[in-house]
Amino acid sequence: MTAKIIDGKTLAVKFLDSVRKNVNEAKEKPGLAIVLVGNNPASEIYVGAKEKTCNSVGVNCERYNLDEKVSQNELLKLVDELNQNKKIHGFIVQLPLPKHIDQNFVIDSILPHKDVDGFTPVNLGNLVNDDNRLLPATARACMELIKSTGVNIKGKNAVVVGRSNIVGKPTALLLLQENATVTVCHSKTKNLKEYTKNADILVVAVGKAKLIKKDMVKPGAIVIDVGINRVMGKIVGDVDFENVKEVAGFITPVPGGVGPMTIAMLLDNTLKAMELGKGVGF
Ligand code: NDP
Repeated sequence: MTAKIIDGKTLAVKFLDSVRKNVNEAKEKPGLAIVLVGNNPASEIYVGAKEKTCNSVGVNCERYNLDEKVSQNELLKLVDELNQNKKIHGFIVQLPLPKHIDQNFVIDSILPHKDVDGFTPVNLGNLVNDDNRLLPATARACMELIKSTGVNIKGKNAVVVGRSNIVGKPTALLLLQENATVTVCHSKTKNLKEYTKNADILVVAVGKAKLIKKDMVKPGAIVIDVGINRVMGKIVGDVDFENVKEVAGFITPVPGGVGPMTIAMLLDNTLKAMELGKGVGF
């Protein structure tokens, strides 16, 4: 058996076409700001890709580059300015932040209706309440990729490997919303294979190349690989793609799977934020 490849690039183009159409029909141009602290090479690439996609759909993108040594107070001042800026409907502070800055404190300072990453306690709390106003983009991307297979999620065994607040936990909650039976694994999980082998849907968000091997995957499973790892100058995921695709039913490639869909979801969230900012949502 060879898995069907879930083409995240093509799916993202479809979503972006719809975003473009909505932007064209909107009375004002949506504005997204991206705050980048320091010059982490990976973050530079992600931010560049987000800017490029904004331009392609007509979303106004403003980038703020702050020095690696910027103080927490200076960063909070910028967050406050963006909270008040009427032309900016949503913004993100690209993570990770330098160690001297309290990441949670900064995220907490973003107004919930401008939080297009869906990382604030209000938006994560909404998600726990099955209220999907602004969802974390990568978790949304994983769900859209799973749904694109046409497989009914209800009653399936879903295993999420990784429990970060930005990917693993929100994805697990969204799978639960769709009535999957969800197991969350992490670095302290004993015998990971015992869990992954029973997964009809397997989402892997760890950051370790080739963590998931062929013998850890149930035949016919849907495998969503969120990981981004650089190995000898190449970007690879957390799944041993070449071998796992021989047993899985569906699999996302890296690159070309979750990444492009995450950006499409971020821009869709920006449109949602524009509506929420009119006072309807929060
Ligand atoms: P974090 O480092 O925040 O979380 C990693 C998780 O993996 C933790 O929960 C950790 O467990 C768990 N983990 C670590 N080692 C193992 C192991 N050996 N077995 C099982 N679980 C393990 O990462 P993120 O969630 O932010 O990102 C995960 C990956 O996804 C990264 O490669 C990142 O680059 C990528 N990513 C990709 C995106 C995209 O758009 N494609 C967007 C966001 C992230 P514990 O909690 O116990 O420490």
